[in-house]
Amino acid sequence: MAGRNGNDQLNRLLMFADVIALLLASLLSRTALGSVLYVLALILLVLTYYRMFSRDVYRRRSENERYLREKQKFLSRLRVLRERWRQRKDYRFFTCPSCKAVMRVPRGKGRIRVVCQKCGSTFTGKS
Ligand SMILES: [Zn+2]
Repeated sequence: MAGRNGNDQLNRLLMFADVIALLLASLLSRTALGSVLYVLALILLVLTYYRMFSRDVYRRRSENERYLREKQKFLSRLRVLRERWRQRKDYRFFTCPSCKAVMRVPRGKGRIRVVCQKCGSTFTGKS
């Protein structure tokens, strides 16, 4: 594999997606969707090998870094949503209409006027 990209995190994701597509294709083998999934699995397999044996290591690494950044962003968003879900009984969450910042206020205070800490705009909401 000297001079080749080899296996990276993005390739592992592609291989995982390939296996899922193949399993679904074999389950739905007599349907049109099964044929589409089979073709998709073949495309993913070709793409995986193309990335693995590619000599353009710089481009493959930048693709992999972009994938890792997007994955991190997604996981971070998921953590925020999970934390909001845990606090949903004690707090109400508002999104600022002008700057989209998220604010947390205690529940059960009735109609309140919310002042955004970030941009200073005010709006009313029921807590
Ligand atoms: Zn704001």
